Amino acid sequence: MAASELDLEEPAEVDHIHDVAAARLRGTRQRYTSGRRALVRQLHDLHGPATISELQDGGSDSSTSSLYRNLAILEQCGVVHRVVAVDDTTRYELSEELSGHHHHLVCRNCGRVADLTLSDDVELALARAADQASRTSGFRVAAHNLEMVGTCEDCDPETA
Ligand SMILES: [Zn+2]
Ligand SMILES: [Zn+2]
Repeated sequence: MAASELDLEEPAEVDHIHDVAAARLRGTRQRYTSGRRALVRQLHDLHGPATISELQDGGSDSSTSSLYRNLAILEQCGVVHRVVAVDDTTRYELSEELSGHHHHLVCRNCGRVADLTLSDDVELALARAADQASRTSGFRVAAHNLEMVGTCEDCDPETA
């Protein structure tokens, strides 16, 4: 492969995410347009769910209407997941199939949401707790997602 071709390559993990996203879109007869591709890359690079205006500030050059449309289509085919936190603002992130299993830190003051990955030990304990809940209540637990609610760095007077 020539050096100039290598320059156009994205990291392997991003390639994989694009492959999954493209396959998901094909499954619903949608095209993986350059705008959708750029959006998926942008969401991958963030460390937590983003609002529409954060996506626009972050360099998404789509108009607001095409941004909403692209997000809706990506959500329909399971590439994007919608997160609604305490401030009722809708935020978007890649679905766990693409981003990996994680949890959220939610600021109760400004509503910001950050991703949180827990250790394998904690995940194992949660899986056991889910099993136990299933056995004792008859409720079949399919997934879990923790929200740790508190105050972010910017909103906490003690760290400001
Ligand atoms: Zn905050
Ligand atoms: Zn997340």
